[in-house]
Amino acid sequence: MKRKVGYTWRLREVMATRGIFTATELVPLLQERGIDLSASQVHRLVSGTPERLSLQVLSAFCDILGCSPADLVATTAENAGVRKTRHRRPPHAVGRGREAASPGRPDPARRVSPAYRTPEQLERWHKRTCARCGRFGFFAAVWPDGPVCHTCECRAMRLRGRCPECGEHRILPGLRPADAVAICTGCAGFRPSYACSRCDQESQLRAGRLCTRCTLSDRVAELLDDGTGRIRPELVPLHRMLVAMKNTRTGLSWLDGRLPNVGAATRLLRGLGKGDIELTHEAFHRLQPWRAAGHLRELLMSYGVLPPVDKQICSFERWLGEYLAGISVPDHEQIVRRFATWEVLTRLRRRATRESLTPSARYFASGQVKAATEFLGWLSDRGRTLGTCCQADIDAWHADRGEHERNRLRGFLLRGFLLWAMASKLARPLRPPAQTVTRNAPLPEPERIALLGRLLSGHDLPLRSRVAGVIVLLYAQPLSRIVRLTVNWLCWLPRRVAP
Ligand SMILES: [Zn+2]
Ligand SMILES: [Zn+2]
Ligand SMILES: [Zn+2]
Repeated sequence: MKRKVGYTWRLREVMATRGIFTATELVPLLQERGIDLSASQVHRLVSGTPERLSLQVLSAFCDILGCSPADLVATTAENAGVRKTRHRRPPHAVGRGREAASPGRPDPARRVSPAYRTPEQLERWHKRTCARCGRFGFFAAVWPDGPVCHTCECRAMRLRGRCPECGEHRILPGLRPADAVAICTGCAGFRPSYACSRCDQESQLRAGRLCTRCTLSDRVAELLDDGTGRIRPELVPLHRMLVAMKNTRTGLSWLDGRLPNVGAATRLLRGLGKGDIELTHEAFHRLQPWRAAGHLRELLMSYGVLPPVDKQICSFERWLGEYLAGISVPDHEQIVRRFATWEVLTRLRRRATRESLTPSARYFASGQVKAATEFLGWLSDRGRTLGTCCQADIDAWHADRGEHERNRLRGFLLRGFLLWAMASKLARPLRPPAQTVTRNAPLPEPERIALLGRLLSGHDLPLRSRVAGVIVLLYAQPLSRIVRLTVNWLCWLPRRVAP
């Protein structure tokens, strides 16, 4: 009887489990192992199924990916001419859970890899029930206690400590069969080594069998390269501090970014390295996406690459640039720009020298700028300008607003603009809307004592809320200050006993 043999090339799947997703990442790793293949040759090996392959290249792949040849080539053999009688499951029954195919959608097996023709093959070769969490799905590794999913692998590899078996300080992904206590890889009998090929530190390995720290170091160094093969000199402290971070996995996730800003940090770092982004605060105001740029700016300030500026001032300046660009009347834009730059920003800077600014100070500043713009627009609708504005206009504007808006917001916010306009001779002498602050009646003493008693003895409330409440009731501190308190601020001084 004739036998029909076949094989499946699984390079792409094994690469994916090691966090390598493109052929170009493999080229330098192959070169390190003395194999010079062009990017397109490697691409063909990754995307297609090669008919022949040198054993040297196969060995290099095994070394890079930390796997055996059997992981890369899955062979099949069956009697030729015999019709398959194996029961094939309907597509919607295959791939339990999230991967389940529904009629009309492309078959998940085909989306995962063209090498798997049927969902049944996908399930048989790539999915297992995880020995740790019991879920059925793609498995990342086969450990002595069974196949483990990616989540369980990551969680186990993060655990570091003294192994109860051998007493060494190592990663503890293994489980002692008797009592499921975490033990080191050596004592658990792990076949592949998890030591980094460069620094020998044990960790979850990435491309080229490198630990996360070495991978992060390489990636950041490559991004900050100024085109001469070395890191732009001003950015060396940034590289040093990023590589020294405690949780390097967070660093790598930050580089990759999350939706919708995938790769934002990578783009910004590359721009910095190449010198496309200047190392000034002004350059950072214009960068997008602003959240990623803001975080990078904070890092650069904390490492001394950029001069330190209050976070709220950075945020206000960035917002101001965009806001001013959106004002359509040139005269208004000019006045608002002067007001914002010479009055609002100066006041914020002065205040920042004394204390760190709160978000509410920043929102008040932008509120003042918005109120000024709104007032200028309202005046021009009445056929007036700031120079011809008279007391009747101020009163009419005031009368237009409701009680709440007048007292709490617009009137309050506009006052600063009017005072500035008069001081800089842009407006005639006017009486700005009075700033009335309504004060609530103070809490009666018995009620305050009763509330204090409830906070001190009420164990049903969260401790943080109780502490915050006691500070309010005893010291009348505003909430804006209390939310900035950390545990270190609240220290217990033992009372000295009098002799
Ligand atoms: Zn699991
Ligand atoms: Zn051990
Ligand atoms: Zn390493």
